[in-house]
Amino acid sequence: MNPRAHPSDETLARFAVGTLPAGPRLVVAAHLEGCACCRRTVRAFEAVGGALVEAEAGLPLAPDAFARTMDRIAREGAGMVHRPAPARPAPGGRPTGLPPGLVLPAALAGCAIGPLRPVAPGVRIGRVRVPGDPKANVMLLDIGAGRGIPDHTHAGLEFTQVLHGAYHDHRGRYAAGDLVEVDGEVDHAPVVDADGPCVCLVAMEGALRFRGLLGVLLRPFV
Ligand SMILES: [Zn+2]
Repeated sequence: MNPRAHPSDETLARFAVGTLPAGPRLVVAAHLEGCACCRRTVRAFEAVGGALVEAEAGLPLAPDAFARTMDRIAREGAGMVHRPAPARPAPGGRPTGLPPGLVLPAALAGCAIGPLRPVAPGVRIGRVRVPGDPKANVMLLDIGAGRGIPDHTHAGLEFTQVLHGAYHDHRGRYAAGDLVEVDGEVDHAPVVDADGPCVCLVAMEGALRFRGLLGVLLRPFV
């Protein structure tokens, strides 16, 4: 798995310093399991963040601190291998009806995943409960081959980690391992590839707004 779509640097920095809310944090963690490139970037931000904290605490920064930090990042980067974390079962169990080949990310361990409920033809949603943040807007989305995700916009950032299958929208095609970050400006209507279903882990920072009757039907889920 070689992801082609990644979280923004800003998102990875917020992940590294712990300011990303629990929902998006979970989705980014799922991405990091399969992306050595982003794991390296997060470590770099963590190292820089640590140095900044030391500087703010008034501790004298060694003259070679920056060079040593960059050395460490280079060493860790070189030694890093693609090693996805082993998946552990979620406490609520695996929802029934997911594609047999799908391995749920280890990041979901500890989360209770509700049953997948149909909300539109070919579209099923399972609510993901994040420990410590019951209000986090996270869901597992299972969409049938060739089906579209209802036309929607969102108030904040939307994070989508593709777990299985692939979909496309006006910006490109996204497959398993990709993380797609979309801001509230975008009005998009993704469509799943014709050859099989697509399963995504989705988190939103703001409220999701579907249009029309479907918006009313989906309200209890998002
Ligand atoms: Zn990545």
